[in-house]
Amino acid sequence: LANRMAERAADVVKSLMKMGMMVTMNQAIDADTAELVIEEFGHKAVRVSDADVEQAIETVGNDRDEDMITRPPIVTIMGHVDHGKTSLLDAIRKANVVSGEAGGITQHIGAYQVTTENGAVISFLDTPGHAAFTSMRSRGAAVTDIVILVVAADDAVMPQTIEAIAHAKAAKVPLIVAINKMDKHGADPTKVRTDLLQHNIVVEAMSGDVQDVEVSAKTGMGLDNLLEAIALQAEILELKANPKRAAQGAVIEAKLDVGRGPVATVLVQNGTLRKGDIFVVGEQWGKVRALINDKGETVMEAGPSVPVEVLGLNGTPQAGDVLNVVETEAQAREIADYREKAAKDKRAAAGAATTLEQLMAKAKADKSVSELPVLVKADVQGSAEAIVQALEKVGNDEVRVRILHSGVGAITDTDVGLAEASGAPIIGFNVRANASARNSAHQKGVEIRYYSIIYDLVDDIKKAASGLLKAEV
Ligand code: GDP
Repeated sequence: LANRMAERAADVVKSLMKMGMMVTMNQAIDADTAELVIEEFGHKAVRVSDADVEQAIETVGNDRDEDMITRPPIVTIMGHVDHGKTSLLDAIRKANVVSGEAGGITQHIGAYQVTTENGAVISFLDTPGHAAFTSMRSRGAAVTDIVILVVAADDAVMPQTIEAIAHAKAAKVPLIVAINKMDKHGADPTKVRTDLLQHNIVVEAMSGDVQDVEVSAKTGMGLDNLLEAIALQAEILELKANPKRAAQGAVIEAKLDVGRGPVATVLVQNGTLRKGDIFVVGEQWGKVRALINDKGETVMEAGPSVPVEVLGLNGTPQAGDVLNVVETEAQAREIADYREKAAKDKRAAAGAATTLEQLMAKAKADKSVSELPVLVKADVQGSAEAIVQALEKVGNDEVRVRILHSGVGAITDTDVGLAEASGAPIIGFNVRANASARNSAHQKGVEIRYYSIIYDLVDDIKKAASGLLKAEV
């Protein structure tokens, strides 16, 4: 407070003591007291509320019709495990690189754009699956315009296919069905179509209105048709944006890069993001130092539906956080501070309701349920969330996985301390432990396991969970 008023901290403490409050320099005071002190010093207090924040980021009012342009659709691929989501994303990307820019090497920044033969541009989110989709949505970032539902023709509709349909419906996002693995012997696209009927998805081949395209991620068959189907669906949706306004976007991935500092991949949803822009993103703020596109090129600006890596953040945001360009640095800092405090209050309130101790006590009292606690550290927020969601599904009536903590970045002493206290292993996904954490883990007997494939990780935890089950019997 003293800082913001440009007064000496000792004077502020003195004035508080005069009011009868015995405080020290780094003690928190409530808002009403702060306001009194501020007036005492002849300054003016401005209380920031959610509404103020909304107003500050609503920089440009009405969009003029003549400024609206058609923006590319943003597509997420969903479907059952092993039905070919990743293969399809790779195939589309590769096919486009070959036909497009000579020798262009695409970078994995969390999303990429392709241009169809007819010149339509499409943005694909690079994290397949509904875990990422739902966690983004739960943070308020509705970025997906169209869902591609991949169903393998040799396997038909499976549990996660049904889940994906439910997610797309809940988000009111239209589906296009990609019937994959058509190159395989025994591929039966008709079975896929009739299976889908049971879930109220009537595809065009069955006189419905959901587009269906037969593809093979392996041979590349039908990929052009799929892209055209997306372009057609996009036309129906009439996706518009105003490139002339201040940018708004959503974080689809964020990480702390050793050389470059915090880096976030942002999908611009409206407006144009430019080098030098000042912004808030969740509880963080920054000034755009550089923008890097999906081809690894530095660009000066990114318009609607364009994914870019943003450098120049003061901290690492979370996947799903919304980015807004604001006018001044002071404004950006104020909003970020306000949000950080609001989030802290919320966490404190949630923490009080169910502390770890209470959970443990409950687990002990309820002898029939045993828990396998784990601590998860991953390289990017998206992976951490995907792992947490996958692990939470592991287990049965008797054994359950409990996520002690999940976060982004290297494994540290703090993690080891927390893991030791609960007898939990630490799982590192594409991250390592620093030297000191390695030592203390060794001393304290905390197990650290490293993974780079989510499937392996989940599989091992499943095994551990069933081991625990046997030991109990
Ligand atoms: P995901 O779990 O949905 O991301 O599925 P993947 O993309 O990892 O694919 C699962 C397996 O199916 C891999 O072994 C792929 O090589 C294979 N696969 C994917 N698409 C095709 C296809 O069109 N034809 C054939 N024959 N195999 C495919």
